[in-house]
Amino acid sequence: MSQQNEMLQTAQNLIRETAKKINLTQEEIDLIVQPDRIIEVKVPVEMQDGKIKTFVGFRSQHNNVLGPYKGGIRFHQNVSREEVMALSTLMTLKCAANNLPLGGGKGGVIVNPKELTENELENLSRTYAKAIAPFIGEDVDVPAPDVNTDGKIMMWMLEEYEKKINKKSPATFTGKPVGQGGSLGRTEATGRGGVMVMQNLIKQTNSDYKTIAIQGFGNVGYYFSKIAFEKGFKIVAISDVFGAIYNENGLNPEQVMMIVKEKGSVINFEDAKKITNEELLVLPVDILVPAALENVITKENVENIQAKIIVEMANGPITQEAYDTLKAKNIISIPDILANGGGVIVSYFEWLQNRENSTWTEEQVNEKLEIQLAGAFEEIWNISKKLNLDLKQSSFVSALAKIAGKKV
Ligand code: NAD
Repeated sequence: MSQQNEMLQTAQNLIRETAKKINLTQEEIDLIVQPDRIIEVKVPVEMQDGKIKTFVGFRSQHNNVLGPYKGGIRFHQNVSREEVMALSTLMTLKCAANNLPLGGGKGGVIVNPKELTENELENLSRTYAKAIAPFIGEDVDVPAPDVNTDGKIMMWMLEEYEKKINKKSPATFTGKPVGQGGSLGRTEATGRGGVMVMQNLIKQTNSDYKTIAIQGFGNVGYYFSKIAFEKGFKIVAISDVFGAIYNENGLNPEQVMMIVKEKGSVINFEDAKKITNEELLVLPVDILVPAALENVITKENVENIQAKIIVEMANGPITQEAYDTLKAKNIISIPDILANGGGVIVSYFEWLQNRENSTWTEEQVNEKLEIQLAGAFEEIWNISKKLNLDLKQSSFVSALAKIAGKKV
């Protein structure tokens, strides 16, 4: 089975399994599992040499019971129908678990953007936006950046969309650059939200966990480590695609980032021991933060994990088999739909600001983010106690109950 198919199966199985905890009927479960609509579009692009190359794009609109579909657009060679279906399903659950009045969507184009020139990338973005324009809108479906797409690409897409509908509609795309309708605090939001949720868990469990190892030092890993460091946590290890560094006395993420900017990787940071990526995952730390890729904690390494808490900042970093072992070892994992929900929450704030034609300060954004996440955490925590479930199952129960209009 392809990895995308497996991700879809895993999400659907977990929905079916947890829906039973709130007594949803088979008919209700089927209604939630199946996406509302999957749009497949042809994306013909004029290339540098004047020839037309045709790409294939998708937009999966999974469920809009709670509000407009919301989710990113990725440009990647592995994009597939199954992948956008799976990711849009997880967006439905993420929005619901975080109490956002939004549903789940996801889009993508099968392309390796690294093989395109800047002009070709712009043509591709504009053509894809024109193709999906009849199906999106600020009250219908609101895309955002995802893998290999960013604020600049959102602006190209928004321009095409606005040309099509012949009016301004900035709330149709989020993740826009600040100053062009984007929200302050969005860049840091996913990492900041993860730290907030981690602190909620530490408070609930009355623990004094301090040491952290971070896998991945991109947007999420960097801001998570920077904000955790500022709050007094000790970041002892950091990795990127080239390798990992470890200093049991602690690392200052801002100093590490300076070296990354100058020399390209964390491994060039001198005041630390070089270790392998695999060694980072099994260090004797309190908290492990996978913030890079999916499926990194597997049956091969799970037995050696020593952390007491895992904060799933990447989407799907733990395989199902590994999850069962972690539970048996009493290691608590904070599920991705809660841990990395800060990003979509601040995207929602951007949508609100655009619609109200207002600009919130960064302090306002962070304060509202904290309230939103604390509410979601408390609900999920209480469900886990009441139904004796782990936090992943509880986050699915919390989301499914809202979608199905049931009380837990
Ligand atoms: P990014 O591209 O900015 O950073 C990824 C980092 O992971 C880089 O430092 C890269 O070197 C590192 N990396 C790649 N392979 C690695 C490996 N094998 N071992 C160690 N490090 C490795 O991406 P990002 O935006 O930080 O996203 C990271 C994860 O968080 C992804 O799973 C993404 O889906 C998820 N996520 C991101 C957001 C967001 O707002 N950016 C929101 C929700 C979820």
